[in-house]
Amino acid sequence: MPHKNTGKRKGNDPKPIKICAVCGKPFEWRKKWAKVWDEVKYCSERCRRAAH
Ligand SMILES: [Zn+2]
Repeated sequence: MPHKNTGKRKGNDPKPIKICAVCGKPFEWRKKWAKVWDEVKYCSERCRRAAH
């Protein structure tokens, strides 16, 4: 049998990552942020509220 396992991606996740301005943890792009990613500064709603 020929070896055909080329459809697998290894460690090359195209999702961008940011650092939360409140807790300092890195968080990954999410679909709900697709339109506002440039404005996203916090990993969660909780952190966003904590910033005020
Ligand atoms: Zn956070």
